[in-house]
Amino acid sequence: MALSREAYRALEDIVGPENISEEPAILDSYAFQWLAETIRPGQSKFMPRPEAAVLPGSTAEVQAIVKTCNRYKIKVKPYSTGWYFYCAPQTEGVIQLDMRRMDRILEIDERNMFAVVEPYVIAATLQAEVMKLGLNCNVTGAGASCSLLASATSYHGAGPSSIFGGENNQNLLSLEWVMPNGDILRTGSLGSGLGWFCGEGPGPSLRGIVRGMLGAKGGLGVFTKCALKLSPWPGPAELPVEGTVPAYNSPLPDNFRAYSLAFPSWENYFEAYYKIYDNEIGYIAHRQFSMLGTELGTAFWMLYNDPTKTLDDIEEFTQKPEIKKLTEEMKIAFQIVLAGLTPRHLEYQEKVLDEILADTGGWKVAAMSQPAMERFTLLYLIRLGHKNLNFVYNGGWLGTFMQAGPPDYVKGYRHIAEEVTEPYQKKGLLVDCGVDAMMGPVGSMGGGGNCALEQFGYYDVADKESTDAVVSWTKDCVKGAIDKGFVPGKGSHYLAMGMTREQRQSSYASAPWLGMYRWQRKIKGIIDPNDIGDELYPTLDEPGK
Ligand SMILES: Cc1cc2nc3c(=O)[nH]c(=O)nc-3n(C[C@H](O)[C@H](O)[C@H](O)COP(=O)(O)OP(=O)(O)OC[C@H]3O[C@@H](n4cnc5c(N)ncnc54)[C@H](O)[C@@H]3O)c2cc1C
Repeated sequence: MALSREAYRALEDIVGPENISEEPAILDSYAFQWLAETIRPGQSKFMPRPEAAVLPGSTAEVQAIVKTCNRYKIKVKPYSTGWYFYCAPQTEGVIQLDMRRMDRILEIDERNMFAVVEPYVIAATLQAEVMKLGLNCNVTGAGASCSLLASATSYHGAGPSSIFGGENNQNLLSLEWVMPNGDILRTGSLGSGLGWFCGEGPGPSLRGIVRGMLGAKGGLGVFTKCALKLSPWPGPAELPVEGTVPAYNSPLPDNFRAYSLAFPSWENYFEAYYKIYDNEIGYIAHRQFSMLGTELGTAFWMLYNDPTKTLDDIEEFTQKPEIKKLTEEMKIAFQIVLAGLTPRHLEYQEKVLDEILADTGGWKVAAMSQPAMERFTLLYLIRLGHKNLNFVYNGGWLGTFMQAGPPDYVKGYRHIAEEVTEPYQKKGLLVDCGVDAMMGPVGSMGGGGNCALEQFGYYDVADKESTDAVVSWTKDCVKGAIDKGFVPGKGSHYLAMGMTREQRQSSYASAPWLGMYRWQRKIKGIIDPNDIGDELYPTLDEPGK
């Protein structure tokens, strides 16, 4: 349903002809999205094509666009860097709001440790700027190329450094929001003209409505600015990078350590999580390198750090005796970075870590403490610039489970993930990288206490059978969790994307937390009377309506 000429001209008058397009090729570049083939008819890699792509340059332009959409009953779908099918139009009749022109760091308050950013400020940019001031930001597990504002206001927000630097839903201070009805709301201290330092007051505190736990995924208006809490960075003003493609590494000063810690059993592994929380050590802590599967992943990381090798060499690598030994050693393991704010602080953390390892029978994996691997691990986890590797095996990747909770809860679904995954790998429908391809933050909130494991499935995006398999695998993962009394997990969100509206409504109506969907219906009724936001802000229709 193409836009009326009148509506198109109204939008063009706001942003100028160079910042709007309805060229099919341009529009398809927005519709082409990761995971689209898992939900779209015929496994198309394209989500519904937007009616137009619009690039606003200011809050005033965003507000004018949203008001125009209300006038012409057009849906609007904003995105920052757009690395997800959640960013794309979910139906016809939608304009895509590409926020890339709003890319400024507006303020860095060194003394109060926060920064104010626009949507297209990626983590790498802010991190590089605040490191000059001895500060750091929480880079989500999606990596350095993603938007901090999107992670704080609209989707998830956890990362490997969350145990020290908080999750971005926690780090969100004041924000500026163009609501679906076109009004602008500034939360917290900003709402009272007192600057950005607090999201809860004096002034409106709307964290729960704005984003809650997971975020509205662009279905509840447009966020144009936000302030983010920063954390201390005891490293150099510029992150040193050495080496060559593809791995690179970072020779950080002596107050940094990076280890891979291995354990004799999962019981001891999760016990170590509690001890790390209780003793408040760790700058970054994440089960990361297992993401490529504990049978194939270790060989991959060793191969990846040899610039003379390619993925074609992986079979040969897995046969090497030293790789076979290391693969066994890394089966029940996670990575940790210690950073000393003072020499004594590092010494304390090292001593505590040794105690924890002694108590849990754990050890530091020697091969991963070799200088080259330690430096690689430091750069990898601090900057998270290698997240393209999620797609390295055959272009398709999807994560399931990831139910967040304390370690004793999370350890309960680990074996289910393995059992459900095995038949798909053995049949060659998903990459046979080891049934344990689980990764996740040791602490997904500041100070720890909460963690999760995400099981990765690698499918061939160019193969119909493999793509079909990843969808049925996701269904099995959700069923496996529910059958054992766990909440459905991340896979259920993906499956919901492929459902009809009626199917989604009936799943909401049967959910134990249906009250939430009802309240969200009420909220949407007030702030989005013309329904210009999409259904990724989930609501349950009034009975009989
Ligand atoms: C390899 C990989 C690993 C990942 N690991 C993690 C992880 O550990 N932690 C995590 O939090 N996420 C993770 N993700 C998910 C990641 O957050 C999303 O893929 C996200 O899309 C990344 O891009 P972005 O942050 O720039 O947001 P975008 O892609 O731009 O948008 C994300 C969502 O927010 C909405 N949105 C964006 N900007 C605005 C705005 N200004 N106003 C209103 N709505 C907006 C979009 O519509 C979309 O629904 C991972 C993704 C990948 C591909």
